[in-house]
Amino acid sequence: MPDVMRAAVLRAPHVVEVAEVPVPTIANPTDVIIRVERTAICGTDLHPYEGRLEVEPDIVLGHEFLGTVVATGDAVGQFSDGDRVVSSCVVSCGSCYQCRRHQPGNCAGSRIFGLGLALGDLAGGQAEYVVVPNADLTARRIPDAGTADDARFDEDILFAGDIMTTGYEAVARSMRPGDTVAVVGAGPVGLCAAMTASALGAGQVIVVDRVDTRLKEAENQGAITVNADQVEPADAVLDLTDWRGADVVVDAVGHESALLSAISLVRAGGTLSIPGVYTEDAITIPFGELYLKGIKVEMGVSHITEYMDEVIALTVAGRLRPSSIITHRMGLSEAAEAYRMFEACEATKIILDPGR
Ligand SMILES: [Zn+2]
Ligand SMILES: [Zn+2]
Repeated sequence: MPDVMRAAVLRAPHVVEVAEVPVPTIANPTDVIIRVERTAICGTDLHPYEGRLEVEPDIVLGHEFLGTVVATGDAVGQFSDGDRVVSSCVVSCGSCYQCRRHQPGNCAGSRIFGLGLALGDLAGGQAEYVVVPNADLTARRIPDAGTADDARFDEDILFAGDIMTTGYEAVARSMRPGDTVAVVGAGPVGLCAAMTASALGAGQVIVVDRVDTRLKEAENQGAITVNADQVEPADAVLDLTDWRGADVVVDAVGHESALLSAISLVRAGGTLSIPGVYTEDAITIPFGELYLKGIKVEMGVSHITEYMDEVIALTVAGRLRPSSIITHRMGLSEAAEAYRMFEACEATKIILDPGR
């Protein structure tokens, strides 16, 4: 391995620079080092990028990546050098109370790559190399693509570490076959949720957004689309469900207005599932309506490692193809421009190739 590598470094809010930094080394016997082959920019990366999450200067960004194992700690049992793996974006301990109860998203020692000291001080994967701690639990071997197009297959598998599995969990934990699933927000996670609903046998999948290009992708997946600027979403959903409302409603936005819209779409006794991220102290919601309708609410940080294997298996089977949401493929050297475009909503999903 070389001593230095290129990485997307956040110098200050809005200042991403591709710089040479030291190649990481194995610090713990449970670590592996991956040579990164594909990485992506996630909406969560905009928290440090825009300064909403305060981080130390010069962190390496990125928590969606896959690649080849090039070094393994002595205690790693599942992987050896040369294995191709995809990593969960969240690293959990595997042994605390929550982890033992299959809730790794609530792990007492939870860490996320590329988000600075407060989230566990892990260098990110928008780099040529990255350390994956607790590798036996955090990473998964990438299965053989079989007859699939290798490049496309890698792009599908890449998202098993974060957005695909987040969207998958939001639906899989709540829906039954035949259900009507409504998704508010056709961003990457919303599109992955809609894709999951179809793959798991939803009767109807309805996607609500205000941006036509995003709705177009949902439509390509076979969803019924509702542009909230043109049609009242609650009217559209009631119309499609014999005036009941949707069995499962996914809020994939993480904003008060989306939450209110989502609440208005769910049927009595239905489920409101919230993968969208909320950090507000308080939000005004119609609590009496939730109570009287007996709505079940599911939310919180995704339990990625609990659901990743299902997502990988369904991807291998060709039933989840999240690479369809990629709008831009760029080199790591173009990271600064990629972040600018992503923040400006000029791209739905950007992946970066560390090889260029
Ligand atoms: Zn993410
Ligand atoms: Zn834990």
